[in-house]
Amino acid sequence: MIKRDGHLTSLWQDTKQPYTTQPFAERDEWDVIVVGGGITGISTALRLQEAGKRCLIIEAENLCFGTTGGTTAHINTLLDTPYTTIAQNFGDDNARLVANAAKEAVENIKTNIRTYNINCGFSEADAYLFAQDNSQEKELEQILAATKAAGISAAFIDNIPVPISFTKAIRVKGQAKFQPLDYVMGLAEAYEKLGGAILQHCRVTGVENNELVEVETTQGIFKARDLIYATHIPPGVNLVHLRCLPYRSYAMAVLLSDRKYPEDLSYDMYDPYHYYRTQVVDGQPYLIAGGKDHRTGDAENTEQYLLQLEATIRKHFAVAEIKYKWSSQYYESSDGLPYIGSLPGQAEHIYVATGFGGNGITYSHVAAAILEKLILNDGSPYIPLFDPNRLKPVAGFKNFMKHNLTVVKDLVSGLFPADKLESLSGIAHGEGRIVDYEDDKVAIYKDEAGNIHALHSLCTHLKCEVQWNGAERSWDCPCHGARYDIDGNVLNGPADKGLEKR
Ligand SMILES: Cc1cc2nc3c(=O)[nH]c(=O)nc-3n(C[C@H](O)[C@H](O)[C@H](O)COP(=O)(O)OP(=O)(O)OC[C@H]3O[C@@H](n4cnc5c(N)ncnc54)[C@H](O)[C@@H]3O)c2cc1C
Repeated sequence: MIKRDGHLTSLWQDTKQPYTTQPFAERDEWDVIVVGGGITGISTALRLQEAGKRCLIIEAENLCFGTTGGTTAHINTLLDTPYTTIAQNFGDDNARLVANAAKEAVENIKTNIRTYNINCGFSEADAYLFAQDNSQEKELEQILAATKAAGISAAFIDNIPVPISFTKAIRVKGQAKFQPLDYVMGLAEAYEKLGGAILQHCRVTGVENNELVEVETTQGIFKARDLIYATHIPPGVNLVHLRCLPYRSYAMAVLLSDRKYPEDLSYDMYDPYHYYRTQVVDGQPYLIAGGKDHRTGDAENTEQYLLQLEATIRKHFAVAEIKYKWSSQYYESSDGLPYIGSLPGQAEHIYVATGFGGNGITYSHVAAAILEKLILNDGSPYIPLFDPNRLKPVAGFKNFMKHNLTVVKDLVSGLFPADKLESLSGIAHGEGRIVDYEDDKVAIYKDEAGNIHALHSLCTHLKCEVQWNGAERSWDCPCHGARYDIDGNVLNGPADKGLEKR
């Protein structure tokens, strides 16, 4: 089993062994350092290594520790931001460009699997989007028109692969699915065979953009001409943090007693929507269902979301056993497209890929293509479209700004006697809570043995107050999505420092 950024175990992490890296010769200077060993970091580094660059991947924990280890791995050109919204925000020509970028990304995944002979349970599939009332039907008609106008093959259809009642549905061709960790680790092997280097359990703690980019890490300083943050959200404080909102999404891998596993990909049209597909892992088919998304740090009781998802699945399917349940994090951009390119505020040589929403499997490969072009100094029509420095004053952006002004003052200092905290908190074993103590607030978790883990409650990124996530046993920041384990260690950026112990 590999480690992931949460307490719950995903189907993928449980069925995979940690990746063992190959030794590599140290260099005074690398061409490119890629920070982050998820699908974005590995697919981008492979592409650059193929293009002749000497790359080093630096991963704070283990490969696929982040959201890649908690994804559901639908490979889509039918994106979560509908082509209606993309066309409204960016125009019809750009909607076609986005669709092309997504199609090329899916082709790139297929080429990688073929070229490197990666055994990852890949199969092509259709996607079904179905409406269940009048207003959803209207929206579906608009989505169909915009999807076709963007150049994606789609049409109304009479049947859907899941046993859920619907009024209208469309089928979209050219989608796919796979076992994401088999794929990413297959890419990592190919990358190392091409001479690429990987350093696991090494956290990047600072970056100086001088003549070369100097990267400070927990294992010393590394230098490179170019640096890519493939960390899902970049660490530190940056404009992209004001333009990305963190969300949690929940997923389950389920055994069905009637063995009627739906082969294709299905989506309802609720907000948030539910998603369904099947993957065979080690000879066993699993229905993988997900949904119940909410803003990170917004839910008082995250376990309740798992219960709601389970109820939805049981309503529609003959459940024999819920084998795995987990949640994970994604980042929504303010205008519906990811931010891929130069990190705002940095003149050159520092790049980022973030804001993928629920389509990071596809967008990671869009990122790989764009970042390769930028670093090789080649042109691409995708570069301005996905540029992180774009500012789109679209509906909803005001709320993003308001949200980001909610920065709280750090009031805490000094140490708390554990017995005092104990009496103050009155919390159950396995529970976490923010507790008032005189003028301070303390993040307290009582473990199963009754030990108290007390932390400063303010996120080290921009001092928002963290919230308890009972399902994943983590402290989650509602402002920009930083997450910490019960001892304050960073699970997700943008924080690069842990919560201090009290
Ligand atoms: C429940 C759920 C289901 C999803 N399902 C789908 C789907 O079906 N299809 C789809 O396309 N997308 C889906 N997504 C989104 C998709 O999974 C993600 O966008 C994608 O996995 C992100 O990959 P990444 O490599 O960019 O980030 P990650 O996988 O999060 O990797 C980032 C890595 O960077 C490392 N890191 C962070 N900071 C540092 C540092 N300072 N130093 C060194 N390393 C660092 C982390 O440890 C981590 O391993 C889903 C998301 C969720 C939450």
